[in-house]
Amino acid sequence: MSTRDKLETIFHAVMQRNPGELEFHQAVREVLDSVAPALDKHPEFAEAKIIERICEPERQIIFRVPWEDDRGEVHINRGFRVEFNSALGPYKGGLRFHPSVYLGIVKFLGFEQLFKNALTGMPIGGGKGGSDFDPKGRSDREVMRFCQSFMTELYRHIGEYTDVPAGDIGVGGREIGYLFGQYKRITNRYESGVLTGKGLSYGGAQVRREATGYGAVFFAEEMLRTAGDSIDGKRVVVSGSGNVAIYAIEKVHQLGGTVVACSDSSGYVHDDKGIDLEVLKQVKESRRQRIGQYVEHRPHATFAPGGNLWRNVPCAVAIPSATQNEIDAGDAAALIAGGCTTVVEGANMPTTPEAVRLFAEAGVRFAPGKAANAGGVAASALEMQQNASRDSWTFEYSEQRLQAVMREIHARCHATAEEYGMPGNYVAGANIDGFRRVAEAMLAQGLI
Ligand code: NDP
Repeated sequence: MSTRDKLETIFHAVMQRNPGELEFHQAVREVLDSVAPALDKHPEFAEAKIIERICEPERQIIFRVPWEDDRGEVHINRGFRVEFNSALGPYKGGLRFHPSVYLGIVKFLGFEQLFKNALTGMPIGGGKGGSDFDPKGRSDREVMRFCQSFMTELYRHIGEYTDVPAGDIGVGGREIGYLFGQYKRITNRYESGVLTGKGLSYGGAQVRREATGYGAVFFAEEMLRTAGDSIDGKRVVVSGSGNVAIYAIEKVHQLGGTVVACSDSSGYVHDDKGIDLEVLKQVKESRRQRIGQYVEHRPHATFAPGGNLWRNVPCAVAIPSATQNEIDAGDAAALIAGGCTTVVEGANMPTTPEAVRLFAEAGVRFAPGKAANAGGVAASALEMQQNASRDSWTFEYSEQRLQAVMREIHARCHATAEEYGMPGNYVAGANIDGFRRVAEAMLAQGLI
């Protein structure tokens, strides 16, 4: 049986064992589509059934999260933590609070995370978690009560040497603070390294908040530099207006590009003079308002309720930074027709497989999230390092470290794609390099 046929058989087994988990199937498919050449080169990986083992999480935890709203009404949500793989270090990956969360989403994110973490070259394994809780429209006290209840179960499964959660969609500095406070109360330990993305006043690290967005733009800059180009002077579209999007926009502007549109789930704003970051931060970060409020402060800008920015705002560089599968084939065709040459995934798996294929056929440079958005987890690993040594670094030094990590990831993806005869294919480069690292560690540790 050829390697590709064997991988096909494995994929069918994964679908059968994980019915209905479409996002997880999609993430597995993408990796299995890339790794055949690595298996041909390393028959020992296939012999030891590394792929089959990697596709099965080490542990999956599902729990009840009861909490009370401000009117005294009781709500019950579901909490998840999937500890995917600890071959390289403690499980590491964010928590997502969004009504769409179910086991399949957490597994897709955990699976991606394990290769992403491997790509950073840092000693961190892969995990992910979250809840179907919707923080939108909830008061601070409701969010606090939810986080406390969530941690009242989660605390038994995590620890600085075991599993280290962080933020993701719906989980930012506020939520991490409440989660950390509850962990500390329950365990009676000031274990800084148990969570990352903490506030600067209690063990957080400089540049963690900015890291995913900045890192994606550093990656974009490296891709463009390799092709003899740069972001300077480029028209850019960034979807979303959360943590990743805001800091991607900030870094694009610092490097001389102009972000002309961004969005949230209610629609998008188009500001041809360039998104005003102060206004955006005020609307989305400080006041937690909807994106439409932006145009009240920038009357020349337009708001398109429910609109699709990929189809309506042409750009040279696209940085999808909202959620999975937000760019479909029709969006990709519109981007290509509008002159887009570079797509860099700030979010996890925001591009559907059909859209990725269209970009490849059109010669659009494409960076997969597991490489391009690894800056967030890399900065988290640096936060753990500072917590372990009771140290705290300056913003400038932390940013230099982040940039160095992103350059290294870019170089590795680029070199691996060349080594396997697929120059410029960052998807293959990232998947093969990440897979090789995890596979080697698993082999060395026996049958785990
Ligand atoms: P945030 O919650 O801070 O922001 C998410 C943004 O995306 C919001 O503007 C939100 O709009 C929008 N969004 C979310 N879901 C949808 C949807 N279904 N349709 C349209 N818009 C949507 O999350 P982050 O910025 O942290 O995360 C964004 C992406 O980046 C995710 O894919 C995440 O997994 C990935 N990522 C995040 C990292 C991090 O460090 N935070 C690290 C690596 C990857 P609204 O407010 O209306 O919901």
